[in-house]
Amino acid sequence: MPYFSKLREKCSSFYNRLWDELVDVKVIDTHEHTTPPEEWIDTIEKTGVMLPHVFNGCYLYNVPTKPGTTAWLDRVNQYRNTGYLKSMLWAIEELYGIEPPVTKEYLEKLDTILKEVYHEDPMGHLKDIVENKMHVETAILNIDLDQHLGMTKKVPAMRAAAGIPSILNGIQVPREITKGSAIVYKFAAEHLHMKASEFQSLDDYCHATTKLLEYFKTSGNYICLKNQCAYTRPLYFPEPDEDTSSIAKLYNAHNFSEQELWKFGDYMFHQVLEWTALNWKVPVQMHTGLARMLYGDSNAINMSHLFEKFPDLKFDLFHGNFPYNNLAGMLHQITNVHADLCWLPIISPTAATRNLIELIEVGTMADPVPVFRTSAFGGDCRCVEGSYGALLMAKDVVIRALEDLHERGLVLTETDALALAKQVLYESPKQLFDPKRK
Ligand SMILES: [Zn+2]
Repeated sequence: MPYFSKLREKCSSFYNRLWDELVDVKVIDTHEHTTPPEEWIDTIEKTGVMLPHVFNGCYLYNVPTKPGTTAWLDRVNQYRNTGYLKSMLWAIEELYGIEPPVTKEYLEKLDTILKEVYHEDPMGHLKDIVENKMHVETAILNIDLDQHLGMTKKVPAMRAAAGIPSILNGIQVPREITKGSAIVYKFAAEHLHMKASEFQSLDDYCHATTKLLEYFKTSGNYICLKNQCAYTRPLYFPEPDEDTSSIAKLYNAHNFSEQELWKFGDYMFHQVLEWTALNWKVPVQMHTGLARMLYGDSNAINMSHLFEKFPDLKFDLFHGNFPYNNLAGMLHQITNVHADLCWLPIISPTAATRNLIELIEVGTMADPVPVFRTSAFGGDCRCVEGSYGALLMAKDVVIRALEDLHERGLVLTETDALALAKQVLYESPKQLFDPKRK
């Protein structure tokens, strides 16, 4: 019997019964970075390999992207005992029937299979896993502007988050607008036919930003905002001065400090949220937790002013705000924050389980009760193998959390346990992102 199936057999009968119930359960995947699959055909032709791209796109970093199983094995071995490797190996066993231990032969065989599936029909491969094996009703992609459109056509479950972090960084007008320019410039060039030289003032920049937001709204493809600026700045966004002259002066200045860039970002993020609160009211996904750890910069509680200022916006706080470990308390007290455990089950299944236990057992001073504002699954991966492995890990985390609560009498029956599992894998994210979609 394969390694992971054997492991499951050793779990309790409660675990196994719930596992069987959840095999085909419909899920909502709150966050992915899926690369358009047809792009891999070129990559395979150029590099002659596929395994390193899949591994590197799913957090097993720096596996050399050239043939060479000894170097691959050395690198993969460093990840031994991590959640990232477990989720990948588990997915490979279920999808391709290759069992651990990881040896040179394991890696060679896997590379051959991956090259075949990604070379022959990459979109069909993605569609099969997302629809038939993961049972995803909606997956929210966080990729480049409109990059999801080809995927959505073939796999309707694939929707998009409007990625906005670079709006906060557009302080300087680029000499020429390129693919790598901040999103407002890129959008202005492609959709408003504007040249870089037409950005003369902060007003021009804000005007193009509004046009971009209107585009997101009217295109019908985008179902939320997404901001991952926590990697580059603190999540503290104080109220900008009413007098905007200092921000106007900063726009396209020759020199500016990091703090001045953040001040510009504060102003722009408030602009974006004000427009969204008035005109669109979609959820705001925020990367929190693992990012700028120093001084607690990436702790979601830094966003307090935004939670207060925008009571009608729902803030979906990513990655369980790990390792700050305060989400259940935040949901207890603050009405418009939601807990999203995407990525966390493969970062640390232990932290994810503990987080979920707290989110289920705490009550609230702010309706609805936290578990109705909790989403348990988002793979956060570039390749569907990673997303599939992350779903297995998320289900494992959900069942272990429920088992603990059941044993201690907080979850009384197995029927309650199953309902709670469906709540966090489907009902809560459905209610947040897609309440009208049938
Ligand atoms: Zn992500």
